[in-house]
Amino acid sequence: MERILSLAADDLEALARRARDLAPHADAVEFRLDALSGVRRGELPTAAQLAEAARDLPTPWTAACHRAGEPGVVGGALLDPEARLELYRRAAAAGAAFVDVPLDLAPGVPSLPGKAGRILSRHLGAVPTNPGDALAELQRAARPGDRVKFVTAPEDAVDLLRLLLALERHVADGGAPASAFATGVHGLPSRILAPLFGASFVLLAPPAGLGVPTAVGQPALDVVDAAWPEGGVDSSTRFYGVAGSTARHSLSPAVQGAALRARGVNGVYVHLETADLDALLDLVGEHPRFGGLSVTAPHKEAALRRATIADETSRAAGAANTLVRTKQGLSAFNSDVSALVSALSRARTGARSALVIGAGGAARAALLALQRLDWPRTVAARRAEQAKLLAATFGARAVALEELDQVAFDVLVQTTPMGSSAHPGELAFEGELPPGCLVLDAVYRPLNTPLLRKARANGCEVVSGADWFLRQAAEQVRRFYGCEPPEDAMTRAFFEALAAEL
Ligand code: NAP
Repeated sequence: MERILSLAADDLEALARRARDLAPHADAVEFRLDALSGVRRGELPTAAQLAEAARDLPTPWTAACHRAGEPGVVGGALLDPEARLELYRRAAAAGAAFVDVPLDLAPGVPSLPGKAGRILSRHLGAVPTNPGDALAELQRAARPGDRVKFVTAPEDAVDLLRLLLALERHVADGGAPASAFATGVHGLPSRILAPLFGASFVLLAPPAGLGVPTAVGQPALDVVDAAWPEGGVDSSTRFYGVAGSTARHSLSPAVQGAALRARGVNGVYVHLETADLDALLDLVGEHPRFGGLSVTAPHKEAALRRATIADETSRAAGAANTLVRTKQGLSAFNSDVSALVSALSRARTGARSALVIGAGGAARAALLALQRLDWPRTVAARRAEQAKLLAATFGARAVALEELDQVAFDVLVQTTPMGSSAHPGELAFEGELPPGCLVLDAVYRPLNTPLLRKARANGCEVVSGADWFLRQAAEQVRRFYGCEPPEDAMTRAFFEALAAEL
């Protein structure tokens, strides 16, 4: 699998410098000729100038000249088709290994000077109903020595997987060496997964600070390299992911990726953002390379329903946050609950009486954990009916939010999004915290929530949302990869990823 570094610069000298600096880190470089200011003015470089720019490169080079306004393309030039074809011929004559030729222009260059092959390409704004048709059309136009490339913008991870499965079928059917990947928010998972589905090349951006992406959502070479197993993807590499409606914001890819690397597991882990878990599992639940999913809102109940086998904890919680592919099918677990049991039971003082604020998925996990610990528990939420339902399920008492001052507790578990970056400054508990009280806040963006600040100011013992997150991720590592979690590496990755958001 070839990692092609896509390079853009204003003039050929700058492009040549960038190529010489960066080519040693990649398998090939792409010259994005449409980025040259001369080309944008309609002045084409000569073959001799292009050959000079590519002189002494340690890798093969490819050339592309995209149209302005082509879906997913950054930049692009307005050239008439004849000028474009002439540029392709000059790049080929200058020694390009491949020239990216849009499918509609392919008849204009049935063959190219020198040894250059064509990368017959299509860029579409959305994944078509049958992405295999687009690849088949490219295949029909391909000649021996050509490659094909299909780039599109999936709406969600289901769309992305349809695209990748079409690529896999193309390869299985003996098609030309091919790639299919995504622009936009699915750009990163598409590049990481593409080689597992048979891609023979992917285009990547230079590392941050050393150049700019030439396509929307084009991830950087170093980021994708770090997500692949050391030594690259092979026929036994498995893929894992976090499925949720806002999965792109999840820290699981950073944390699980760190675990994969530290333990040398032959797997990749990506965000799979979708509102339809069932559709995602219909597509890849039985794929030979599929390893499992972390499941986040709003799919935890659906994950449990979908599982072939569910452990006692996920059944008791009525929700699963972990699906593991096994010989028997999908096994469901709930590492949110086990993480809370371990976080709370490590608290300094003994028997507790707990107050849970909120009545969503996190509250369910908290109440089940407290039930397991056999600590008396009360739940309060803005929807009194929901609080009563949870109280009945988990042997708790329900109170109205207005009655919180009448509740005696020495453990407070905050499970609403109040105080998170979506609800900045909101305090879920306005009352007085009892001395020596233990306060756990599910929120970890920001790390230091208003509630935790208040708890620290009152000398309370504090368990952060980060602690909870890392414990549930550690349990997932045991389930997914069957190894002990590398806690230091995972913690470092979590805090680095959070810091990078600021
Ligand atoms: P959820 O199922 O949507 O439940 C959220 C609960 O909070 C519901 O009871 C909701 O009430 C209530 N709520 C929402 N906004 C509120 C507001 N402004 N004021 C008062 N109550 C409000 O969400 P979830 O899955 O339980 O997650 C809740 C929070 O915990 C999120 O911030 C999530 O990121 C975090 N979390 C962290 C971890 C971790 O590992 N640290 C694990 C799970 C969850 P309604 O039902 O009335 O909307």
